[in-house]
Amino acid sequence: MRFPCKTLLAGLGLAVLTVMLSAAEVPAKVVIWKLDDLTAGEKRRVAPGFKRVADWADQNKSVVTFGIICESLSKPGADDVAWIKQHAIENGGRVEFWLHGWDHKAWEENGVRVSEFKGTSLEQQTKHFKDSCEIFAKTTGVTLHVFGAPYNQFDANTAAAMDAVPELTIWMYGAKGDKKRTVLTHSIDMEIATGKVSYDAFMKAYQAKVPPALLVMQGHCGMWDDKSFTDFTKIAAFLAQEGWVTKTCGQFVGK
Ligand SMILES: [Zn+2]
Repeated sequence: MRFPCKTLLAGLGLAVLTVMLSAAEVPAKVVIWKLDDLTAGEKRRVAPGFKRVADWADQNKSVVTFGIICESLSKPGADDVAWIKQHAIENGGRVEFWLHGWDHKAWEENGVRVSEFKGTSLEQQTKHFKDSCEIFAKTTGVTLHVFGAPYNQFDANTAAAMDAVPELTIWMYGAKGDKKRTVLTHSIDMEIATGKVSYDAFMKAYQAKVPPALLVMQGHCGMWDDKSFTDFTKIAAFLAQEGWVTKTCGQFVGK
């Protein structure tokens, strides 16, 4: 076989270089585990399901994000506060804690469903943002940077209220078009009902449409039974195999 001419070699080299460049330009596929409803109070202790997922993150050298309902810290459980401090990513742990409201309440007013950040006044919403971030910082020494509304419900007051806490720079499942924060949107689900994970349902959704490069996967791990936890670990293993990289919201936006 004749040795290829120099032009051909140069051409091959260029092709390799082009492939390398485009590989570097392809944005990484990122998954964020958005796990809601953590409480850490004297009465509403950290649910074992959160500890199990935090242990999973340690064992798998992965990261997770836990949304805390901050009113629970009004009467904090000392062990739970120590657990939060130990696991906070700011302290070298593997958990990003984020603000999931002050009281997570929902009720009816004149037959209309109202919740903490939907249908309530600007003053009340502002107070809930401020009180939540203050109590979390005071209790744990960690600053919250991410918000996700209870029930993912909010209204026109919410963005204005959040302006009172400029440290909140990321909004999960937030208002599209919000210019002051990075909004991370919803795409596909792993829970078929609140607190019930289904690997099979997730696989169907994943295969039915090409997911975007960012998957923000919501779950309620405090409610998971063994089957839900196992299905979560199977989904995580599948995504890792498919080349998805797990990050916190802060890591995703580069903070
Ligand atoms: Zn919730």
